[in-house]
Amino acid sequence: MAENQVDAAIIGGGIVGTTAAYFMARRGARIALIERDQLGHGTTARSFAWINASSKIADEPYHMLNALGASIYHDLADEFGAEKLGLHRTGMLQCISRTDPSGLAAMEEQAGYLQRYGYPHRRIDADTLSSLEPAITFDEDATAIHAMSEDWLDAPEFVSFLAGEIRAMGSQVLEGCTATALDLNDDGSVSGLLTDQGTLSTSRVLIAAGHETPEVLAALTGYEAFGARFPMNRVQGLLVTTPPNHNAGALRHVIYFDGPAHAFHIRPAGNGRLRLGADDTDGMIAEDTSPENLLMAGERLLGHARARVPELIGNVTAEQCDLAVGIRPYPHDGKTLAGALPGSKGLYLIATHSGITLAPSLGRLMAELMIDGSVPEALQSFALERFPRFA
Ligand SMILES: Cc1cc2nc3c(=O)[nH]c(=O)nc-3n(C[C@H](O)[C@H](O)[C@H](O)COP(=O)(O)OP(=O)(O)OC[C@H]3O[C@@H](n4cnc5c(N)ncnc54)[C@H](O)[C@@H]3O)c2cc1C
Repeated sequence: MAENQVDAAIIGGGIVGTTAAYFMARRGARIALIERDQLGHGTTARSFAWINASSKIADEPYHMLNALGASIYHDLADEFGAEKLGLHRTGMLQCISRTDPSGLAAMEEQAGYLQRYGYPHRRIDADTLSSLEPAITFDEDATAIHAMSEDWLDAPEFVSFLAGEIRAMGSQVLEGCTATALDLNDDGSVSGLLTDQGTLSTSRVLIAAGHETPEVLAALTGYEAFGARFPMNRVQGLLVTTPPNHNAGALRHVIYFDGPAHAFHIRPAGNGRLRLGADDTDGMIAEDTSPENLLMAGERLLGHARARVPELIGNVTAEQCDLAVGIRPYPHDGKTLAGALPGSKGLYLIATHSGITLAPSLGRLMAELMIDGSVPEALQSFALERFPRFA
C-alpha cells in the first residue's frame, strides 16, 4: 500500500462505494477505496442503469433522495461533460394505454405526486410520443409520462472516471484487495482495517459491498449472525442486451412500457445495442439461473418487446443476445440502508437497490456524515435504527 494512514477506508468499488469515496476525497479527506476484484464489475455492471426518481413516489424522503441523485449527475455533467461520465441524456417515457383503466388511474396519481414534489415531467399523448420516438408505432390510445431529466448511465465507465479523479486528488484505489477484519481500540472504536495486502490505519470504515454487505459485516465485526439476520434480501434480475449494430441508433429514450400484458423496459446500450428487462422475467429466474431457463426467460422478454416495438426487435433471438443476471441488494422495506452501524464507533454502511440513481446522493451525504461528522437531514429516514433489531 502506498500509504497506510488514511481518514477513511471504503470497502467495495462498485458505483456506491466509488461515488462515496469520490465525494470524501472532494471534501479533502485522504481515503483508500478497496475492491476485491475489479472496479465496477459487480452488480454495477449488470444493471438496467436508468436514473429514475419518477417511479418512486409514495414516500417523499425516498423520492427526494432519488431526485437528488439525478440532479447531482447533471451537476457533474456540467462540470466534466456527460460523455466522460458515461451519462446518456435521453429522457424517459413511461407508456400505458388509455384502455387500461387501473393503469391510467395509477399514472394520474403518479403525475399528481410528481407535480406536488416539483419533479420535472409532463403528460403526453400518442402524437407527441411518435414525434419523440419516430421509429416506433404507438397505439393511438397510448399516453405517457415524459421525465425529461432522466438518463441512463454506462455505470462501469462512470466508476472508472471517478476512480481516476480519486487518484488525481492523491488518494488510493486498490483493486484485487480484500478487506478481512477490523482493528479496534480498547473502547471498541475503529483503529484500522485489515486487508490481504496489509493494514490501513483509520478511524472510519464504510462498507459498500453491495449484496455481500451482510457477509462483510459479519466478517468485520466477528458477529456471524449478521450474515443471516441483516434486513436485506437479494433479488436477481435478468438483462438482455442485443448484439452490436442491431438497432443503429433508432431508439432515443429509456422507455418503460407498463400495463397488464407485455410490461417491460428498454433503452439504448451503445454501439447500436438495446438493453431490456422486465419484472415477470426477473421472477422467472429468481430460483433457477440455469442456461436453459435464462434462454427461456430471454425469449419471453424479447417476445414482450416484439409485441410492443417489433420495428426495433426484428427477429433477434435470445441465443444471439447477451444474457446477464445481476443481484440487487434489497432492504426489507424496499428503501435504502445508509448510516452508522448502531452501537459501533467508526463503522458505517450503505446497502441499496436503485444504486445507480442513488450513488451520488448517498455518496455526498455519507461524505458529510463520515468526514464532517454531521448527520444530514436527508439521510435520517434511511438509518439502520428503523429496523427493530438495530433500534
Ligand atoms: C437487473 C438489475 C437492474 C437494475 N436496474 C437499475 C436501474 O435501472 N436503476 C438503478 O438506479 N439501479 C438499478 N439496479 C440496482 C443497481 O444496479 C445496484 O443497486 C447497484 O449497482 C449496487 O451497487 P453497489 O456498489 O452497492 O454493489 P456492487 O456493484 O455489487 O459493488 C460491490 C463491490 O464490493 C466488492 N466487495 C465485496 N466484498 C469485498 C471485500 N471483502 N473487500 C473488498 N471488496 C469487496 C465486490 O467485489 C463488488 O465489486 C439494478 C440492478 C439489477 C440487478
